[in-house]
Formats: sequence, structure tokens, C-alpha cells
Amino acid sequence: MKARTGPLVVLGASALGGAAYRLTKPTDASDGTLNPHTFTPYTLVDRQPVSSTSAIFTLRNSSGLPDNESVRKVWRRSVWSVQIKQPQLQIARAYTPLPCTADGNKTSENEADDVRLLIRQEAGGEVSTYLHRLPVDSTIELRGPNTELTLPRDIIEVIFLAGGTGIAPAMQVAQALARRTGSRMHILWANRRREECIGGISDDTRGTAMQDRVGWWKSFWGPSEPIADTPPTDGTAKGIIVKELDALKQRSLPTKGGLDVNYYVDEEHTFIQPTDIERMITRKREETGSRLIIVSGPEGFLEYWAGKKLWADGREVQGPLRGQLGRMNLGEWRVIKL
Ligand SMILES: Cc1cc2nc3c(=O)[nH]c(=O)nc-3n(C[C@H](O)[C@H](O)[C@H](O)COP(=O)(O)OP(=O)(O)OC[C@H]3O[C@@H](n4cnc5c(N)ncnc54)[C@H](O)[C@@H]3O)c2cc1C
Repeated sequence: MKARTGPLVVLGASALGGAAYRLTKPTDASDGTLNPHTFTPYTLVDRQPVSSTSAIFTLRNSSGLPDNESVRKVWRRSVWSVQIKQPQLQIARAYTPLPCTADGNKTSENEADDVRLLIRQEAGGEVSTYLHRLPVDSTIELRGPNTELTLPRDIIEVIFLAGGTGIAPAMQVAQALARRTGSRMHILWANRRREECIGGISDDTRGTAMQDRVGWWKSFWGPSEPIADTPPTDGTAKGIIVKELDALKQRSLPTKGGLDVNYYVDEEHTFIQPTDIERMITRKREETGSRLIIVSGPEGFLEYWAGKKLWADGREVQGPLRGQLGRMNLGEWRVIKL
């Protein structure tokens, strides 16, 4: 993934590869709670390895203050991110908070308001490498929330194509839909390596048989940096994110529609296919409402499925629908590139 550089604005509310920006003003001040205008100090209370290149960072407001209303609001119907500052370089990057899937066994009163981020260490990446090297108890400054997408009120079905850490916004959508009755969601999650999704078994195995072709990763994605404390695997255990997706599925059960997840692993030669999506969009349905296909992942993933996002008037915009989805007859389904 290439870093983007640019003017004094947030450059990318989009592909997981970008969102670099220069800080525009001194940012020492903070009102104590997360807000979009100033950086707020959080303490790194835990870092749990997910794979050799990614970990879940748990951050707690350093003043012990609970979330304000703007954060509670974005959890209800948005895909949203926070920005993390790299203080020495005065640059920041966007990261996507994971929903809380805990079963209520809180170890501390503040736990519900902790910010949890799935962060991959990019080879040569400025901010992700900085974060992966920080010891627990370090201070990390956050700014946000930044809304990337607001789900339509009448949403009834979502197909979410996630590449790598693009699973984080998919989990936000799953958590928002779990609150609604009758909405259905299908997550198709592609990873280069099994270590990202150990124990993940697809709900619909028709599309995940071995295929003989080169994954989009090979051509688009550079290497990530292996980190030292890779979690042990015993062949039967489930990875953390897989467990959290299972918990989201359980939570979605009472909503009639529910959540299903398909796993695709490049090194096992299983790849998301247009036919997997066709099967989902041609299913006969009675209900009326919005149906979205959301694509989130590294730049190459986004481009392969939906075409590039574009820049217009200093803002990143959706751009024309191209790629695999651009060649399909999607009917009433609308595509959103994150
Ligand atoms: C809305 C949004 C949400 C996001 N959410 C997440 C998330 O939840 N988790 C997550 O892990 N990431 C997320 N990202 C991506 C994240 O913001 C960063 O882009 C990512 O962590 C890499 O940042 P970095 O500073 O470490 O790497 P950078 O320094 O930006 O470098 C990125 C890559 O480009 C290469 N590179 C840098 N400069 C050049 C150059 N001049 N020429 C060629 N290659 C170069 C680097 O070697 C590296 O591999 C999100 C992005 C957006 C926009």
C-alpha cells in the first residue's frame, strides 16, 4: 500500500492504504473526551497479537472520562474512524474502532468505552510501526470520530467485501445492523494468510473451494512487517477476530435476518468470486429497502472490486463504478467504496 501525502486536510476517508495528513495547528489542547477538533490522550492498556503482522490495541481515555454523545451516536448507524497522531513526525493516520463484543464480564468500569483498534504493521509504515513499538501504558493521542458512511435508515441488506483490516468497518456495520429487526448481512472476508483468521469456517462453503488463480494481493499488496509476539496456534483454536465475528453472529440471530461470514485465504487458493456475490443479489426477496455492497480494504482490493476512488475539489469521492462489480448486473444494489 502506498502512503498518500497532500495538503493540510484529511486526504482519505477511504481505502485502508491512505489517510495521511499534516497537522494544521498545535494540538496540545483537549477537552478530555474524544472530539474531532483536538487530540485527546488515551493510554495503551493492552495490545493483543492477532497474527504476525497485526494486533488489537486497547486504548482508554487517560482522564477516565466516558464517551460523549457524538461517539454513542456514530456507533448506532455509522462506519467511523479515529485519527492517531505520530508526535515526532506530526502526521496522523485513520483507524477504525472495533465494536465491543464482550459478554458483559467487564474487568473495569471504563472497559465499555475503551477504543479497540485492529492495526496492521506495514513494512516501512511510519505510524503503524511507531504504534507497534510503543510499550503498554504509553500515551496515544486520538481525534475523532470521523464518519465515513452513514447507513440509510431503511437498510435491509448489506454485502460487505472486506480485505485484511477492512474487516473492522464490516464489524461496525454488523454491530449497527444487529440492533435492527429484519436486516441481513453477508461478510466476505479475504486475507492473504490463514493466521489472520484461524479457525474461521465459511457459512456458505460453495464459493470457498480451492481455485486456481493468483490472488489480487500478489499484484497489489506489498509485504507487511512480521511482529515478534505472534500468537500460538494449536490447529483447533479460533483467532480473536474469528471469535468476535462469531459473537456478532450470535447477537444478530434475533433479528430474523442475521449475519453470515465467508472466509477466503489467498495462501489456500480461495478467493472471493463474482458468482458468490451474484448468488446473494439474485436471491428472491419480498422486503423493500436499501441494499448496499460495501467494499473496504487496501487500495488494490478496492480497485479490483469497484475501481479507484477519485479526488475532486480537495475531497475524495466515490468515482465511477469499475472493476468486477462494474461488470455485474447489480440491479437495485448500490456500491459504496470505503
Ligand atoms: C478511514 C480509514 C480507516 C482505516 N482503518 C484502519 C484500521 O482499522 N487498521 C489498519 O491497520 N489500518 C487502517 N487504515 C490505514 C491506516 O490509516 C494507515 O494507512 C496504515 O496504518 C499505514 O500507515 P503508516 O503510517 O504505517 O504507513 P505509511 O508510512 O503511510 O506507508 C504505507 C505503505 O506505503 C509504503 N510507502 C510509504 N512511502 C512510500 C513511497 N514514497 N513510495 C512507495 N511506497 C511508500 C510504506 O513502505 C508502507 O508499506 C485506515 C485508513 C483509512 C483511510
